Amino acid sequence: MNLKKLSLATKAIHGKQLHPYKGPVSLPIYQTSTYRFESSDDAVRYANGDTSVYVYSRYHNPTVHDVEEKIALMEEGEAAALFASGMAAISTTILAFVHAGEEIVSTPALYGGTYRFFRDTLPDSAVAVHYIDPKDLPSLHQRITEKTRLVYFETPTNPTLDIVDIAEIVEQVKKAEKKYHTRILTMIDNTFASCLNQRPFDAGVDIVMESATKYLGGHSDILAGVVVSTKAIIDKIKITAKYLGGCADPFMAYLLFRSLKTFELRVQRQNENALTLAQRLEKHPKVLRAIYPGLKSHPHHSLAKKQMTGFGGMVTIEVRGGVRAAVKVCDALNVAVNAMSLGGVETLVSIPVYSSHVNMSAKELLQHGVTPGMIRISVGVEGIDDLISDFEQALKKI
Ligand code: PLP
Repeated sequence: MNLKKLSLATKAIHGKQLHPYKGPVSLPIYQTSTYRFESSDDAVRYANGDTSVYVYSRYHNPTVHDVEEKIALMEEGEAAALFASGMAAISTTILAFVHAGEEIVSTPALYGGTYRFFRDTLPDSAVAVHYIDPKDLPSLHQRITEKTRLVYFETPTNPTLDIVDIAEIVEQVKKAEKKYHTRILTMIDNTFASCLNQRPFDAGVDIVMESATKYLGGHSDILAGVVVSTKAIIDKIKITAKYLGGCADPFMAYLLFRSLKTFELRVQRQNENALTLAQRLEKHPKVLRAIYPGLKSHPHHSLAKKQMTGFGGMVTIEVRGGVRAAVKVCDALNVAVNAMSLGGVETLVSIPVYSSHVNMSAKELLQHGVTPGMIRISVGVEGIDDLISDFEQALKKI
């Protein structure tokens, strides 16, 4: 069977199982920190580089490995590394490839944790991050210097749902690679779109990262992160992961494996619900603007159509009356839940200035395009009529 040719849903359900046992349809949980050697020869084989010998679960675990194989197949990368959280995936990958004295170029609209990691932690390791506004991407190759090792970006962005041109970034980085005769990696945070709605490897991106806490996990009950790339890149990331220790645990991996089986069904429904909700909220008199890449009014709608296979489950609205009005709406919702995070089967709302963008200066908020009246909606799989009437009754409270 050619696994690569299978549909995303079939890959997610069947994928490839490594285990020699033919019985279980579900994934066995290898809840162990260490592994018994048949004899000390195993230890010697491991020391000589035989990766089939299991030694210690921070290095490798069969349950975790199966999930990595499945996600690599779904994203169409050669290999994957699973982590304890999205932030562990991001920080480990960056520290594996960018060292003291070297630089990252990034777009500025990032998940708040990533932005703070770049702002507050990387300078301690003498790694500088330079930002480029997505509208200046045609000059990206000029911003890259001989010290640049990685170009990092997110699309759609959080919470403004701007679309960043993936093909343009890849092209610009190739130009800079020719100029400096060096390898510069491109890395995308694909969390907001997920692999159902955006296939960054098709555009030539090197490393795809997702916070699997979100759409891949899908039930707001695990923390996980995944990085997918070539085998050589993943091998290098795994060496750093061993020492930084943000590895995935087998029980989380089992839950993620279970969730992946319904990933396509869930995200398709979320795409449909998000479009319908955005279309309704866009016309609502208390809503100043509704931002959703699938709306014709979205400034980057044509780019979204070009580079996305679906528009995703995230909608952002800006209500009349600033943050006080946003609070009133969030507190009045009955179906949607007022909680941080995204990607789960239940609709969640959050106010960016109180959540992802808390403690940012007015200048930083402006740079990120975040306004006080914004409500970010992670649309779930509920009945769409229930969601629409819930938002309509909550908006009446303004
Ligand atoms: N990337 C994005 C776009 C996110 O929204 C988040 C978390 O909200 C992360 C990365 C970090 O993921 P985690 O919370 O799993 O560490």
